[in-house]
Amino acid sequence: MRVGVIGAAGRMGSEVCRAVEGADDLELVARVDVDDDLQVLVDDGVEVAVEFTVPTSVKDNVAFCLRNGIHTVVGATGLSEEAIAELSDLARSGDANLFIAPNFAVGAVLMMRFAAQAASHFDRVEIIERHHDRKVDAPSGTALRTAEGIDEARSAPWGSGVDESEKLSGVRGGEAAGIRIHSLRLPGSVAHQEVVFGSPGETLTIRHDSLDRSSFMPGVLLAVRKVGSLSEPTVGLEHLLDL
Ligand code: NAD
Repeated sequence: MRVGVIGAAGRMGSEVCRAVEGADDLELVARVDVDDDLQVLVDDGVEVAVEFTVPTSVKDNVAFCLRNGIHTVVGATGLSEEAIAELSDLARSGDANLFIAPNFAVGAVLMMRFAAQAASHFDRVEIIERHHDRKVDAPSGTALRTAEGIDEARSAPWGSGVDESEKLSGVRGGEAAGIRIHSLRLPGSVAHQEVVFGSPGETLTIRHDSLDRSSFMPGVLLAVRKVGSLSEPTVGLEHLLDL
């Protein structure tokens, strides 16, 4: 299978290039970064493109690939719900398939799954995510997806807290699907998340740490191999795993 990587000079992109080069059934035929013309993907006969650029460019790059019949695996985060819907429509209207995962680490997918399982058994939950200080978007796509998954799994409303006031703006974090998310950006980090549930007298913390970018590669390669056979645009590595 002929693979092209967009954002190939970046931290994730270069790791993906190494992983593709190390896979016997895959061939890395194009590396594209910010100064390159995407047309090389077409000219080099790329069958599957892997997109790991930045929030400002990912949508246009994915649209280009889909319009040119190239199956696309998207790892870059920061796509809005509207953008995902538009790109999904584009995929449905053409010959190329679309796969998006906010997190390609198997452990992170399991963390999200376990958090959804715990959702109905606790009164409150908050999410703390920590990433390296070069990450430009916040909160992380994983934190947003975790909040959505917890919200979908829970039928009862969350227990109410006290009336709060913030002496420092933003100190209680942001809110997605009614769940507080706190984003830390620190050198020395890769990608880490804790989902902390609380009920009277007990807490449950579900924690995942990506300590190295190699943690994402089995998931990326799985998506590269499977994207061509998807029947629908798909979001989330859990759909490719036998959980
Ligand atoms: P990075 O800044 O190291 O790399 C981004 C690369 O994209 C750079 O080389 C940059 O030059 C290039 N780029 C920018 N604009 C471009 C354009 N228009 N066309 C082609 N290339 C362009 O960032 P990173 O740490 O590698 O992260 C990349 C993305 O992947 C981020 O959105 C990050 O949140 C996401 N990410 C996702 C996962 C996951 O599992 N889904 C894991 C880690 C990071």
